[in-house]
Amino acid sequence: MRLDKTSSGSNLLASLIKHAENEKWCMKLFCTTCGAMRFRDEVKKIGIESIIDSMYSLDEDEADEILEATGDPIGIIEHDASFQYQGKNIWRAEKPLIVLKRQAILQAKLQAKNERKEHNLQSETKRKVERQEKRALEKKRRLDYRQIAKQQRVQILEAFSGLNLQNKLQVIAEDTQHLPNYYPLQIECITMEELKVVSSEVAVKLLTRLSLLNSSRWDSIRQELNAVIRERLD
Ligand SMILES: [Zn+2]
Repeated sequence: MRLDKTSSGSNLLASLIKHAENEKWCMKLFCTTCGAMRFRDEVKKIGIESIIDSMYSLDEDEADEILEATGDPIGIIEHDASFQYQGKNIWRAEKPLIVLKRQAILQAKLQAKNERKEHNLQSETKRKVERQEKRALEKKRRLDYRQIAKQQRVQILEAFSGLNLQNKLQVIAEDTQHLPNYYPLQIECITMEELKVVSSEVAVKLLTRLSLLNSSRWDSIRQELNAVIRERLD
């Protein structure tokens, strides 16, 4: 490859990058696959001093075009030059424009990344606080509801305790909000004789309500109610 300023008329570094792009050479700074060796070898062959000299003679358009190349050729050149110079200053009084521009781009990218990170962190914190608030509100609502239900039960049972057996059974039969075991009545101990006080209508309703309970302790009262209902039909 011939890349001197006199033959091509353009900047040595600009020509090298253009050639590398045409040839699809890897120019990643820390490529773990190929180490960008093809490009590095070419830089070494041309000579790092010549490359650095040509950095200083790039015009702004050329610099921008190089910075748009895939990978980070300027990063590779800087990295390899400082390795070759072993920490000695490789630059003149001022760094070349392209190096300053690259630093500015990296800085801006880093800043944008940090801002995104900060933004994500803030959103996450906000969501977390919102979730906690929602959970606390739900808990309070549940507690409030339980409190209200408790108070309601006290009132209902107070009224219930003043009723006779017939009316008690009617209340239980017609309460579609609460199951029969909501009431402190030992309904399963009621005798056939006692059941005769309820109307057929209440007996049917009561049987329906009792069918919602699974426990076998309700079996005998169900049988008794069935018997009462059958007896009325006869
Ligand atoms: Zn590579």
